Amino acid sequence: MKIGMLGGGQLGRMLILAGYPLGFSFRVFDERFSESAGAVAPQSVGRYDDIDALREFADGLDVITYEWENVPVAAATFLSSLCPVYPPPLALEQSQDRLTEKRFFHRVGIPTAPFVAVETRDDLDAAVQQTGLPAVLKTRRLGYDGKGQVVIQTPADVETAWATLGGSPLLLEGFVAFEREVSILAVRSRSGQMWCYPLVENAHADGMLRCSQAPAPHITPALQQQAESYAQRVGDALQYVGVLAIEFFYVVAQGSQTSTTLIANEMAPRVHNSGHWTIEGAETSQFANHIRAIAGLPLGSTRPVGYSTMLNCIGTMPDRSAILAVPGSHVHDYGKSARAGRKLGHVTVRGDDRTAVANAVESIEYLFKKTNP
Ligand code: AMP
Repeated sequence: MKIGMLGGGQLGRMLILAGYPLGFSFRVFDERFSESAGAVAPQSVGRYDDIDALREFADGLDVITYEWENVPVAAATFLSSLCPVYPPPLALEQSQDRLTEKRFFHRVGIPTAPFVAVETRDDLDAAVQQTGLPAVLKTRRLGYDGKGQVVIQTPADVETAWATLGGSPLLLEGFVAFEREVSILAVRSRSGQMWCYPLVENAHADGMLRCSQAPAPHITPALQQQAESYAQRVGDALQYVGVLAIEFFYVVAQGSQTSTTLIANEMAPRVHNSGHWTIEGAETSQFANHIRAIAGLPLGSTRPVGYSTMLNCIGTMPDRSAILAVPGSHVHDYGKSARAGRKLGHVTVRGDDRTAVANAVESIEYLFKKTNP
């Protein structure tokens, strides 16, 4: 089987590496030369609006997938007329625009922060009245890793937020005073079978994922079940095939009785950074399961093997020999050239008990600080 990969980043690279043991071959499509996925498979360089380039890319492929959620829907839809595209282009359409995405969540009964569409400065004033402050102003499209969003704390911040983001279609969201951030990764097969990994707890800094702990501590079976039922609703509504991620705010409500609940922030129709731990920490990795799903193969178990913590390497790669000297650690280098704020690789620590993993993580964070003070 020959698989086409739209996008040449690290997610594509790890998907391709997971597909080789199954005997699959790959071809990568990207708008520029890719040093990450492009280093492990042949690549086509072309534009997503160039029909001839897309047709040439699709020639001889059995199935096409993507590792980038901003693949233009028109390109994915055109390719799906030539060969199956999984996840379906509808999943791209529903997730690329934060407004469409939030409306979709509501349609399938998944709670979100209150939100209001904003086009003009007057809309923003009216939206602030509706959501109250603090609130988060976000671009509807192309925001990632905390880019394209501004927190409005007080009425005095409204003007600055507008000066920063005004002009493109926006969304104002009520600020969620969350206790933690968690995500669920699910894989759905061509026949509609869906399996979920355990919820993962994520820590962000400057809007970027720094660390994921799996399975997430503090999670009750009821919360796990709630997240799985939400993933199921999304998967069924989109006739989804492949790995899907949904990020949630974990909120503790203080009423007569304290209760915890999950509020969806966003979804990604692809393998996800908060699932990288599955390479060493689960029976079947998210990458292997995505490939199995799109190829029509039986899914693999999503059972975690012990405890894992994943740390992103941002801006610089740490000294790999020092990291690998820490028991239970695994280094992944994406082959990308170093640049401030760029995800260059990750380290996963896996162990049989949480304390051993926490101790190893402490040593690794110390080593990270040495390379990136
Ligand atoms: P996003 O790009 O929407 O995933 O946002 C990046 C990060 O900003 C999230 O992981 C949260 O830490 C924070 N954030 C985004 N939206 C909200 C919100 N409505 N309330 C509180 N924090 C938020």
